[in-house]
Amino acid sequence: MDILKERILREASVINSDVLKLDALLNHQVDPELTMEMGKEFARRFAEKSITKVITVESSGIPVAFATALALNVPLVFARRKKTLIADQDALTERVPSFTKGIVTDIMVSKQFLRPEDHVLFIDDIIANGDAARGLIKIIERSGAKLAGLGIVVEKSFQAGAGTIREQGIVVESLVKVASLEGGIIRFE
Ligand code: 5GP
Repeated sequence: MDILKERILREASVINSDVLKLDALLNHQVDPELTMEMGKEFARRFAEKSITKVITVESSGIPVAFATALALNVPLVFARRKKTLIADQDALTERVPSFTKGIVTDIMVSKQFLRPEDHVLFIDDIIANGDAARGLIKIIERSGAKLAGLGIVVEKSFQAGAGTIREQGIVVESLVKVASLEGGIIRFE
């Protein structure tokens, strides 16, 4: 998606050779018009998959997942980051390490919102090692719903996450792929 590449070159900054700061576009500020274009692009790429639900993880995945759900005319469900230790019989929970925060968090989806008859499109902002994605994929599998694929705004293809998920036979569609951040320079694939 060329417009997104241009915006990343203008508005993102390289923190180090592993981390790209995307606060201006994804993680702190959101451009509604650009986000709607992202949603339409994901909807186009998954148009033939009979999606019944879009799912993401709070919080940075929500705007683009919302845009995708609107374009597909289906509901959006977001996995919540759980802060309570009280077991909930009606929830599916997975523990995931956080790439940027260096902590583990539990993500949770109520069984009420993920049914075996659902065809789910999982949308997320950035993929690095793939831990967050793998956690939500496990939840989707445990719900009995069918995972139609993953839509990722920024895939850092020099890290293993998206590749290992593709090796599982899951379709991963990325709007841009960042091949390297070496020397403070953003290089796209
Ligand atoms: P993973 O679980 O794939 O290692 O990391 C995924 C999550 O970590 C993303 O949803 C994102 O919030 C955060 N993350 C990973 N790499 C980056 C990065 O380079 N920049 C930013 N801003 N967030 C990142």
